Amino acid sequence: MPNNIGLDNINFDKIIDKISKSNKITQRNFKEVSLERAIFMSWYCSYGDCKFCFMSTQKDRISDPKRGRRTYSSIFAEAFLFKKLDWNLEFLSSGRDAFETEELLKISKAMEEIFEEKIWLNIGVLRKRDLELFNSVKGVVGAIETINPELRKKICPSKAHENIENMLSGALDLGLKTGITIILGIGERKSDTELLLDFIEEHDISRIVIYPLNPHEKTVFEDYPGPSTFYMSDLISTLRLTYPKLDILTGTWIDNISSIGLLLLSGANGLTKFPFLKMFGNRYGKRLEKEVFSVNRKLKGSFTDLERIKNLSYDLKVFSFHELAPAIKQKIESYKSSVMKKQSKYRDYDIWQSA
Ligand code: SF4
Repeated sequence: MPNNIGLDNINFDKIIDKISKSNKITQRNFKEVSLERAIFMSWYCSYGDCKFCFMSTQKDRISDPKRGRRTYSSIFAEAFLFKKLDWNLEFLSSGRDAFETEELLKISKAMEEIFEEKIWLNIGVLRKRDLELFNSVKGVVGAIETINPELRKKICPSKAHENIENMLSGALDLGLKTGITIILGIGERKSDTELLLDFIEEHDISRIVIYPLNPHEKTVFEDYPGPSTFYMSDLISTLRLTYPKLDILTGTWIDNISSIGLLLLSGANGLTKFPFLKMFGNRYGKRLEKEVFSVNRKLKGSFTDLERIKNLSYDLKVFSFHELAPAIKQKIESYKSSVMKKQSKYRDYDIWQSA
């Protein structure tokens, strides 16, 4: 397994200079920071062997794809909730072979209805002839994870790089946008950056999601520390300086909120992956917003507005899955009640709010 976390040869003066330039370019091209939500539909993946992935820990527990799925009502409830909070759908996602194409077409159409725009898909490799059927999709995300070819073979043994590249090429042929996901801190080298820049150019990538490693229990990475914030900054600022209009999303877990300000200064324009139910409206959500405002950015959407949660209302009559309305409403109520319960658990101290 990899024995480094990519922290080689960092030149801090150079990074700070790059961040300063990236910040100006980002502010020129992006008026606000978006909150992004990836909606996962299943815990089943027929590969289930990517070394960092939570689903690799579930592989032996779920043999029937259908048993690993979330209910439609829970998927749509989540989508309605985030639309009301003005978050973007980062992408619709599931493990490989968890759904039939027909089902994915229907769910994608419903997502388009909810978010009132076409969506991004990240559901594994799709052949061009299948992709063509997805009228509700504006772009596909290739889960590349790491660009380093040798490392990739070890980290994602079943997910062939070439298949993802073919999907991205097919998407471009069909006039769709292309995106990729990259995880940092899994053993890549800083020198891989050149390969990444070439890949972005070659596949006309318009969206990249940079995740730091989130070490899941029972994976080989469970005791890995993940990358430093400066290391992430360095890469993000390189991306921003090279591609001023590239959509750069980043984010991680509740223990890394403090990295946000610097990552935004470095060139990120969207935040993702932060756990909604653990953070919304409490001190964690407030801290996230504070990080955004502290670097002079406007936020699209909210991580704190409890009034929006309390007063959620929906008209599900025109929704294509309207027969699920009672179950969707029930699920939304359970999300609301989870959020509200956390308010008493995490006390807030006004005296600190000006800091
Ligand atoms: S293909 Fe995706 S869902 Fe499946 S194990 Fe790999 S990262 Fe996880």
